[in-house]
Amino acid sequence: MVSAGEAMLELDGLRGTVLVVAPHPDDESIGCGGLIATLRRREVDVHVVIMTDGTGSHPNSPSHPPGRLAAVRAGEVLDALAILGVAGGAVSFWQLGDRFVPDEGADGFEGAAVRARALLRVMQPSLLVIPGRADSHGDHRAVWAIWSRAAAELPAPPRQLEYIVWPRPDAAGEGRPVTLDIGAVLALKRRAIAAHRSQLGLVIDDDPTGFHLPDDLLARADRPQESYFEARP
Ligand SMILES: [Zn+2]
Repeated sequence: MVSAGEAMLELDGLRGTVLVVAPHPDDESIGCGGLIATLRRREVDVHVVIMTDGTGSHPNSPSHPPGRLAAVRAGEVLDALAILGVAGGAVSFWQLGDRFVPDEGADGFEGAAVRARALLRVMQPSLLVIPGRADSHGDHRAVWAIWSRAAAELPAPPRQLEYIVWPRPDAAGEGRPVTLDIGAVLALKRRAIAAHRSQLGLVIDDDPTGFHLPDDLLARADRPQESYFEARP
């Protein structure tokens, strides 16, 4: 439920491109599938960057070694984004190692921030949507750090929205909490999440350590609102 007085996410007046950054293939649908579908219905251009290859989900599958698993996951995210209204030409794959996104101070961080800044300069998004600094997944926090650093170095940083996929009980997001009503596109969001079949136990059956999206996460994603934190520029 949206409580009385909770701020609604303002999408009027967006110009140019909205850039959505997902740490792994599936975060774009779970975290902001409703936002993406809503923007595309309004004919706002959306570009999506998938930061990692997603090969951490099934590290011990004989049938799906990393190259094959990466291809499966790339195909799934393209299917999901097509459902949400984003064509493949508007999707970038950075192919960083899953579970190894460099955080601030680590080797590779500065290079990734430079690459992110270059893309921001070319694309000049009006809105940048990134994972939240309070997410419990290390890759998600590192992606936040890379893109926050890159955006902060621009002469005119875009509006910045943060979404949480893996909440941390001891940490709230930072910025202004805002909510988007996604009831009109919830069916599309459900289909987009369902396109990530390998993360739902439907593709790979030979890795006992394989990852499966947990029920509580799926339940949180299946609500007619999405929650964000709008960072102050
Ligand atoms: Zn993720």
